[in-house]
Parts: sequence; C-alpha cells; structure tokens
Amino acid sequence: MATIRFYALKETFNRKPLKFKEKGKHSENFGKNVFNHNAMRQYMTKQAFKSVQNAILHGTKIDRDIADQVASAMKDWALSKGATHYTHWFQPLTGATAEKHDAFFEPIENGNAIEKFEGTQLVQQEPDASSFPNGGIRNTFEARGYTAWDPTSPAFIYGTTLCIPTIFVSYTGEALDYKTPLLKALSAVDSAATSVCKYFDKNVKKVISTLGWEQEYFLIDEAFAKARPDITLTGRTVVGHSPAKGQQLDDHYFGSISDRVLNFMRELETECMYLGIPVKTRHNEVAPNQFELAPVFEETNLAVDHNSLLMDVMEKIGKRHQFKVLLHEKPFAGINGSGKHNNWSLATDTGINLLSPGKTPMSNLQFLTFFINTIKAVNDNEELLRASIASAGNDHRLGANEAPPAIISVFIGEQLSNVLQELKGVTKGKLSPQEKTDLKLNVVGKIPDVLLDNTDRNRTSPFAFTGNKFEFRAVGSKQNCANPMTILNTIVAKQLKDFKTEVDALINTKKLKKDEAIFNVLREYIKASERILFEGNGYSKEWEKEAEKRGLSNNKTTPEALKAKVSKKAISLFEEMDVMTKVEAEARYEIEIEEYTMRIQIEGRVLGDLARNHIVPTAIKYQSALIKNAQGLKDIFGKDYKTIAKEQLELIKTISDHITAIKSKTKAMINERKKANKIEDAEKQALAYCNKVKPYFDEIRYHCDKLEIMIDDELWPLSKYREMLFTR
Ligand code: ADP
Ligand code: MG
Repeated sequence: MATIRFYALKETFNRKPLKFKEKGKHSENFGKNVFNHNAMRQYMTKQAFKSVQNAILHGTKIDRDIADQVASAMKDWALSKGATHYTHWFQPLTGATAEKHDAFFEPIENGNAIEKFEGTQLVQQEPDASSFPNGGIRNTFEARGYTAWDPTSPAFIYGTTLCIPTIFVSYTGEALDYKTPLLKALSAVDSAATSVCKYFDKNVKKVISTLGWEQEYFLIDEAFAKARPDITLTGRTVVGHSPAKGQQLDDHYFGSISDRVLNFMRELETECMYLGIPVKTRHNEVAPNQFELAPVFEETNLAVDHNSLLMDVMEKIGKRHQFKVLLHEKPFAGINGSGKHNNWSLATDTGINLLSPGKTPMSNLQFLTFFINTIKAVNDNEELLRASIASAGNDHRLGANEAPPAIISVFIGEQLSNVLQELKGVTKGKLSPQEKTDLKLNVVGKIPDVLLDNTDRNRTSPFAFTGNKFEFRAVGSKQNCANPMTILNTIVAKQLKDFKTEVDALINTKKLKKDEAIFNVLREYIKASERILFEGNGYSKEWEKEAEKRGLSNNKTTPEALKAKVSKKAISLFEEMDVMTKVEAEARYEIEIEEYTMRIQIEGRVLGDLARNHIVPTAIKYQSALIKNAQGLKDIFGKDYKTIAKEQLELIKTISDHITAIKSKTKAMINERKKANKIEDAEKQALAYCNKVKPYFDEIRYHCDKLEIMIDDELWPLSKYREMLFTR
C-alpha cells in the first residue's frame, strides 16, 4: 500500500501553474471594491458625506437619519458591484477575522422582495458570538456582545459580501476584540503628540500613527500539507529531518520567482488592489519557499485591518493555486522562521513625518523630540513591549539566533548615537547664546546630512531606527498587528504626555525659553534611556549577559512574558491613557495565557499521534523486513550470517532503541499533560505546559527524525522537508 505521501508526490509532479491573467493596470483597479472617498462622493448626499468625513477626521457622532442615508448609499454601491450580502467584519481575540453574512434580500407583501439595508443595520449588530474568547467578561457582566461600525476604516466588498469594519464589545462596554483598544491608543497618541507638536507648529491639529507591515510567509504544495497532520492542525511541522540542502547557500533570497509562485502572487496582488490594500513589494526570503509581501504604509488602524484581511485573502488565493500558505512563525525547524516587521511612525495633518529629520533646526528639534521620546517610551516599557508580541509560535523565533532576541533594545546607528552624546552634554538650565547657536548649527542642524548616509542597518535589533521610522522587527508573522501597535502607541502617548508636563513646568517655573526647556528635558531622557540603546550583535551570548547587567528583561517564553501585561504599572498605564480598564486587561491576559496552553496541548497531541500511529508502525514495518532479510541470510549462510548481515542486525537493534525511547518519552509527556490539565490556575497551567510538557517535544522529535533517515524512503508516510521546501 502506498503512503499518502506517495500520492502527494504524484500530485505535485503533475501540477501545472494556474495561469492568471491580470485585468487591467493596478492603478486602475486600486480600491475598486472599497467604499472610499470617491465612491462616497458619488453615492452619498452632500450632508451624509460631510458627516462621515467628520466622523473619520474628528471622531464626531453620526446621527440616525444620516446613518440611514449612508446605509442606503452603501447598499446601492454594493449592489452595483454585484454584492448580495453584508456583514459586520470584526477581529475577535481568536486572531482570525470574523463575519456573519446577512442577505440584503427581504421578502415583502404579495410574494415580492426588495433589497434592504438601513442605518440600524449599519451602525450596530448583535452577532450570536458567544463562543469567541472573552476571558470571563461576558460571564461576569452581560451575556451578549455587539458589533459597532468603525467609520474610520472603509467598507469593502469581498467576494459578493459587503464587509463593514466594526468593533466588538460586550453590552457593558468591555472590549472583546483587537480594534477597540487600538482605536483608543491611536486617539491617545493623537492628543499627546498634537499637544507636543504645538511647540513647533501651531497649525497642527491632528497626529496619526502610521504602520507599514512586511508579511513573511511560506508556500508549500497543498498535497504535502494534506499528508502532514501536524501542518493541518498546528500550522507547523513537529517532526521532520532537515534536508541535505537548507538555506546555507542563501540562493533563495531575492532569487527569481518560479512561474507557479508568481501566478499566485499576481492574483493575490490584484485582489489586494481591488480591496485597496496598497501592496508594493514582493520577493523571495532567506529560506527556501519563503516569501515576503509589503505594502505602502497607511494610517495604523487601516493598516491593521488590511493586514488581517490580507492573511485571509492569502489563504483563499493560495487554495486556488493549490498552495498551502504557512503563516506560522516557525513552520520548519532549522530553517528561518517568519516575522512581520512593523514599520512605525507618526505624521501630522500638515504632512510632516515626525520621525523624519527636516530642513531647519526647529524642525530637527521636533524630530529629536519625537525620536528621543520614543526611545524613552521603549526604555521604560521594554517588558510590556516584549509581552505584546508573545505567542507560542513566536517563542520559536525570539532568541533563537535568527530573529531578534527576546530582549528589547533600540538600534539608532552611529551618527544619531553621536548626536545623542552631544545633547547629553547640554548645560543644565539656561543656555548661553553661544551654546544655543552651536547646538542649532552643529548638532541639530547637521542631522539631515548625517541621516542620508546612515545606511548601516543592524538586522539583529528588535527595534531599529531606519532613517525615517522605527522598525519593530520582533512581531510574529501570524500575529494581529493590533496588539503590538496598541502597546507601542500607548507607551509613546504616555511618554509624550509626561514630556509636555515637564517642559511646561520648566517654562513656567524656571522661566526657561521653550527650546531651552526642550533641550533640558531631552538631555535627562537620553541619560535615563542609555541602557536600551544597543548597536552590537543582538544574537550574541555577550549581549544576553550585558542586557542582564543593564536590568533589561529577557523573557524567553510566552507565560513568562505575558505577565507584564497585567503588572500594576501596565494596568495603571492602560487606565491613565484610557486604553483598557483593569477588567479588560486581565481578561485579555487570561485569553492569551489560555490560548498558549491550548496551542501547546494540541501540538503535544499531534506529536503523540504522529510518533505512535505513524512513525513507530512504519519503523516496525521496516524492521520486520530487515528481520526477514536477516533470517533469510541465516538460512543461506548459516553461522556466517552474523558478519554478512551485520548492518541489518545493527539497524534492527537501533530501530528498537528509537522505538523504545519514543514510547517511553511519549508516555512521560502524556503524564505531564495529564498533570497539567488538572491545574486550575491558568498561569500555573501555562507554565506547566511550557516547562514540563514542551521539553519532551524536542526529545521525541529527535528519535523520530533519526528514524526518518534510517527507514526505507518508500515507506515513510510524512512529506519530507526536501519535498515541501524545494518543490514549486
Ligand atoms: P526594508 O525594511 O525591507 O528595507 P523599506 O525600508 O523600504 O523596506 O520599508 C519597509 C516598510 O516601511 C514599507 O512597508 C514602507 O511602507 C514602510 N514605511 C516607510 N515609511 C514609513 C512611515 N513613515 N511610517 C510607517 N511605515 C513606513
Ligand atoms: Mg524591514
């Protein structure tokens, strides 16, 4: 009997690339399925259009009758595009997106029917969503949750459904999704940053946070994935020997893209264009069959929605091309994992990127203000920032010598390090006219030239300044960007708020000039944040030691890392910035810690199943063949058979050893699982899964992988690394 792997191989050999014909230019297709500015103009009354624009820009409320007008316009537009259904589209704490479709269709009297969609349906819905994780909130408070329209992210048509981005909250007002706290964090950073901007330009009325994510992923043939229960159930391989050729030649990175993959990418990009996701770059990544897709940056809330949507679109388009898209942070051991760099900055409504040096000393002082405040925010909240990217999948990357370490540090490059050194020496209190001129001309004034040749990039840094933005590189490929973006914008908001208070105090009590006061506060911030700045190799052992001396956290696993989200400091931060209540923060923590446990539990079960029901029986089958062979040799050669069948006899013995080890270790793992399952406290349970159950994974895998390279290739049931990684 042939194995499933055999069928998978046969299928992949017969695959022909599915030709994809682009329909028109990207620029013509861009936003065709989005209810954007243009579509709104065309379909809405002037009054409704104004009201929605005000809601987007200033967060004003939309009246009921205006909502009716908006709904009616949305419906007309959607019907003209062939949509039949609508849905409130939201991001519950499962990490996936959720939708429940309702038809526009409504029967009326006399057996007739109409298409109907009203303001009430647009503004609020009550999905029967009681199965989404809620961390006990809805048990404690109120059973129902509802979704509410987020006008700042435009509605779009996906397939034949009008999707309306919404928040998801409980009836008592607690957030049950990713979007609600994100929107609050964005509003906090807007007001804090706008106040600070007024030191430099009174015309600034709004500051937006910008995000440009870079999505890494693997593509493997769907048939291989089907032949691997671990990929199907966990998104990663829990066993599998590394291939003879891995990524050591670096020949995949930026290499030419195969036809089949290119057709997938082209269809994906075209779909993205219709959905208004401004994807711009695509290339091969370091690992074989690993790729990256990146858009032009956007306002953070929209960028987060677009990334969530993209992950869904990728899977769908992948299926059409018979690819399985692997978004997991570490699908293959020994091969680079996938991340999602989050490029972040702040921009004013006057068109200024606050992390981009300007042309005048004053605009550079503004740049330095935001630059140094961001560094200070990361310094003061490094552990919380680490917690924002904690997940079972990302644990495989962080600190595993190929991705940023679990220690958060900031890389700024040599030139800016020098600028900070000079600023550190600024006199306390009033500055002499000479010092002021000097600072303006020689320190602040020089920044634009310096940055132009600031091309050195440190790939080992988790949080790097890259010329006009910070790049948070430790984010996992599968994660919803909302989590890290909520934390980053919140800590920067808090920092800017404190900065404003301190500068104002110096101006009012010490009678310093505005720029003197700013220099004074920045000087202190530089001194206070020195420990977070690191320019060296983040992967090195020395850095771990050095970071410990500096008092930086190094939380290598999710259960350890997550605690920072419910520390006293974090909760008072969330409350002060009005991002989350204590109840919400604790509920989220509970959900994340339970999710971690469940993921490890599922992986443990899958590994047990593979080892006992796939690998051991295969090993026994092969061993039986060897025994039969040795027996035959004995019949032929009599006593001499021991030297003639030496290899076979050794193999028979080695196979038995591995089988015994797999059996006993699997049993021990199951025992630990049983013990862990009895623990009631969610945190202790996660720790047990992390420290008692998970360590068996590598041990069991070791023996399974040894068997893989020993056993007849034809018998092996699971798709091999070389097949999954090198077939395109
Ligand atoms: P790489 O990091 O691969 O060298 P780039 O530096 O060109 O790539 O940019 C990576 C991402 O950074 C892109 O998605 C881009 O849109 C985004 N980006 C550029 N400027 C900003 C900004 N001001 N705010 C947020 N993201 C930005
Ligand atoms: Mg990058």
